[in-house]
Amino acid sequence: MKSSNNTTPDALLDEGHGKPIVCGGCELLCEDLTTQSIQSGTGCVLADNWFAHGELQPESMIDEKNTPLTEAIGMAAERLLSAKRPLITGLVSTTIDTIQIACALAERTHAAIDANASETSILTAPTAVRVGDVTADFEELRDRADLAIFWGCDPIADSPRFIERFIQPVPHNGVRRTISIGPTPALPPSSHDLHFPVAENQLVSLARIVQAQVEQKATNRPSGALESIADQLKKSIDTAHCIGFISTTTEQTGLVSWSLSHLIRSLAHQKPSFGIRLNAGTATGGGNCAGASTVCTWRFGSPGAIPYASIAGSEFLPAEADAQRLIERNEVDCMLIIGRIPSRIEDLLTRSPQPKTVIHVSDTFPLSQHKNSIRLGCASLSHSTEGGMLRSDGRLISLQPFATSQQPSIQKVLNDLLDQVAVKTRRRSTP
Ligand code: SF4
Repeated sequence: MKSSNNTTPDALLDEGHGKPIVCGGCELLCEDLTTQSIQSGTGCVLADNWFAHGELQPESMIDEKNTPLTEAIGMAAERLLSAKRPLITGLVSTTIDTIQIACALAERTHAAIDANASETSILTAPTAVRVGDVTADFEELRDRADLAIFWGCDPIADSPRFIERFIQPVPHNGVRRTISIGPTPALPPSSHDLHFPVAENQLVSLARIVQAQVEQKATNRPSGALESIADQLKKSIDTAHCIGFISTTTEQTGLVSWSLSHLIRSLAHQKPSFGIRLNAGTATGGGNCAGASTVCTWRFGSPGAIPYASIAGSEFLPAEADAQRLIERNEVDCMLIIGRIPSRIEDLLTRSPQPKTVIHVSDTFPLSQHKNSIRLGCASLSHSTEGGMLRSDGRLISLQPFATSQQPSIQKVLNDLLDQVAVKTRRRSTP
């Protein structure tokens, strides 16, 4: 990997090629990479993509023209305050303190705020699933679970190193077996790694049957094949000492997660059992989904899909006021995208029939410029940014910047934007 245009080339050498670094490419927030491994290729496509963006030269522009950053920030504040319906999105490639500044901006401008995480685009999932969920962190799965059950998920697609880091190591109590339930096996099938091909629309029924067996209740016996799989699953569960269920939040009804939560809760009364939920990582643009949803929850009472941000209390409208739907319905006229742009948002804006004002604060700008766009360039998010991100199991991970930058940090750019919004708001309200 080449050194970044906006970094001091000697910084890498000064600090040593083997310095440990953190990857923010997906929610695993891997801490076991080094500067040497990113230069030679990490073996993880998402990570290589995350670090490659440090090579681009940030720039500040207004309406296709290069502009000094302070001037572009002033114009961005003006356009945010003039918008009828602003939306703040992105967020997940940035740190917790950056997201807090974004929330303050959302309050000041009465903006909608949503990080475009899959859970806020699902009507039922965020509320139904979290009631009484039994969870654990990834290391508990790695160290304790002698049976890992992948429930309708393909972790390799969204969190490429999940298997390598948390399933392949031998647990403290001996050998680990895995079972994949769903269309795709998480591991190549073998005597220790079973795969039961179950259609997505049968995952809820299967969870309900296994739960009934665990609780020794009668079932409606809907399908011989499904019941046979449930019997085999129950046998494996009976012989295990500690069971981890791994699922994702990608299915649209939320019922798979709901039924799995109930199964895990029933099992947890009998033996150590817990769920690990992985978010869809590839489309979000970064690994701090948990940080974005947690900060929004602290501040506004909900993880996202907030139509108007207010510290006095905000509505929570999943699958209604999430970023994707607000853009699809052309309900926003100005967007502030903070950090790397999620690919779903990029696709929507590329084919959006109605042009919007797009203010983008980032170290890379894949969107083409148009007459209503403002770019605010900042230091590399992957090479030069300090701060913390939250892993989806709640563990705080501190980034390890390894290169200095001539550009201001994203926190500084956003703080300056917040100051400008405050100044211009005062001016507007002064008679
Ligand atoms: S699995 Fe995710 S966090 Fe880990 S190296 Fe790959 S992209 Fe980075």
